[in-house]
Parts: sequence; structure tokens; C-alpha cells
Amino acid sequence: MLNGEFALIERIRRRASSLPAITLGIGDDCSALRVPPHHELLTSTDLLLENVHFRLDWTDMYSIGFKSVAVNVSDIAAMGAEPLSFHLAVGLPVHLTSQQIDLFLDGVFDALQKYRLSLAGGDTCRSEGPLMIAATVQGIAAQDRMVRRSGAQEGDDLWVSGSLGDSALALKRLQAGTALSKFLAQRHHRPEARVDLGQRLAKQGLVTAMLDLSDGLLGDLRHLLDESGVGARLELERLPLSAEFRTALSAQPELIDLALCGGEDYELLFSAAAQQRGALKVLAQELSLPLQRIGGLTSGSEIHIFRPDGELYTPQQAAFDHFRSQKDKVCE
Ligand code: ADP
Ligand code: MG
Repeated sequence: MLNGEFALIERIRRRASSLPAITLGIGDDCSALRVPPHHELLTSTDLLLENVHFRLDWTDMYSIGFKSVAVNVSDIAAMGAEPLSFHLAVGLPVHLTSQQIDLFLDGVFDALQKYRLSLAGGDTCRSEGPLMIAATVQGIAAQDRMVRRSGAQEGDDLWVSGSLGDSALALKRLQAGTALSKFLAQRHHRPEARVDLGQRLAKQGLVTAMLDLSDGLLGDLRHLLDESGVGARLELERLPLSAEFRTALSAQPELIDLALCGGEDYELLFSAAAQQRGALKVLAQELSLPLQRIGGLTSGSEIHIFRPDGELYTPQQAAFDHFRSQKDKVCE
């Protein structure tokens, strides 16, 4: 579809804005990004495949575009970095109409604007199979301010932003053919990358380790623990849950496992020394974003989850592998 491809790239190019940091944008063989002195350049790629990461009958094209940017930017947020440039490679199925492609691009450009990002390049191709989207985000962090997964210490508190399990609850409802409330649709189809939070945590030096929750709290916590060489204690009644999640939970108590194992929350999970509790409370107020202490880090490598009565809790869903120190993800 060569002619169509060039026309589409031209349409994309006309819509792309360019930050001063992007010294070369769409139209050349490479893009170029100027990195200020004493900064690191960070890069993260996400591949999104139709029928694996999204379904066209459950999701509108605008949301697919918006989410492709948000989930990718979430990785930059998790490092405490500032997003700057975005690259978008798409394999477009032949059956997509140009109206659908435009809706997808509307979602992409709205999300780019939200995160103050420039589209600096990409690749466009026809797909004989599913819709494929490869998103690459680049950002910068001051050299000594990048937050890794590996800095957590025994005795640190464990914190999470926002609420857990909403996206997984939405997915469960979609699978059951139930319509979503506005809130759950937003949480599932239009996740927010916690960019401001990540940057504030990094700049103020409040955190020792951080990552974003894409694969579920327990699965992603496992990564942080493995990289840092510590274990964790979680308190079930401290998990931050939305009002809508709590309503569902009161009818079906087993849904608590969605908050523990369900994916696509895109909240930030981080460890911080106990003396930062006050500063984190202030930051939560300033950003109008709940920050919740959900437990603490221990010696060893195990994850222990405590119920309100002090008994240990074991999730029913895909449970046991989370408790082993290994890098395989299980909550998918
Ligand atoms: P090449 O053949 O060198 O890969 P292309 O013709 O594919 O070049 O792309 C031309 C320009 O358009 C390049 O700057 C590329 O980064 C940009 N581009 C192509 N597809 C996209 C896209 N989907 N989104 C943003 N930029 C794109
Ligand atoms: Mg190309």
C-alpha cells in the first residue's frame, strides 16, 4: 500500500508538533533528540497486539491510540523521568477504514499532548493479520535522579498510587459481556501514566525503588524484590480500592485477588524510607492523588500477605509462583 502509506505518513507529519529538544523529527531517516548535559537518555518500547493486548470489538480505536501512548509513557514515569519523544510503528490491517485510522491517531495525539510529548518518527506498514502497534518513548532524567527497581532496602515502606484492580475488574466484566460503568471504562481503556508523581518522587529523592504496575501488584512487586534482594509484607486491608471495586468486592469477596494479581493498573509501586511518610502525605495532597502505604520490605525474598485478623492470606488466582523468588511473571 505504498501510496496510501506515504499519504498517511504525511497526514501524521502535519499533526506532529516538535519540542525544541527534538532536533530532527518526522521526514528523515532518523530522528534526533538533544539530551541536556548531565542527563541520561531513557528508552522504552511496548508492543501491543490485537487479540493479545486489546480486542477491536471491546475497545474503540481512539482508546487504543490513547492507551498505546499512556502505557508506554508509564515506563518513563516509573523511572521518575521526563517524557520527550515518541515513536510509533504500526502494522495496519487492510480492513481498517481511514476513519478508524484517524480515530486511532486522534487518541495518539491527544495522549501525546497530555504528556507534552512529540511524535518524532515511526514506521507504517500494512498487516495481513492483526493490528500491531509498537510504541517507543524516550525521556530524560538527571544523572543521579533516575529511580531503578533495585534500590529498595529492608525496613523501607511499600507504597502504591491510586487504586488497584479496577482495570482487571473491567476486563472481567467485558469477558462476561457486561457493560462498563464510566469509571471502569476510563480505568481500563484510558489509563493514566503517573508522570508528575514519578518526577516529583525522583526530584525530591523520596523513593528508593519504583516500577509501574502493568502485570499486577504481586507479579510486579516480585520484580522489585528480585532486583533489590529483599522480601515484603503486605497488609490486605491497606490495599487502596475504589468505591466501585469495594461494591463489587462486598458481593464477591474473592475479587480481592484482582487487586493483587490483576494487570493494567499503571499505578506506581515504590519503596521509601519510613522518615518520608510525612513528605509523601504532603505530595499526595499537592497532586490530589492518593498514595497508600500497603506494607514494608523484609529480609529474605518471600511475599507475605496478612489479613486483618493477622492470618496469612494466599490468593486463589495464579497464586503460588508469586511467593517464589523467580523472574517469571505469573499474573497475566
Ligand atoms: P524509511 O523507509 O527510511 O523507514 P519511511 O518512509 O518509513 O522511511 O518514513 C519516513 C518518515 O516518516 C521517517 O521520518 C519516519 O520516522 C516517519 N514515519 C513513518 N511512519 C510513521 C508513523 N507511523 N508515525 C510517525 N512517524 C512515522
Ligand atoms: Mg520505514
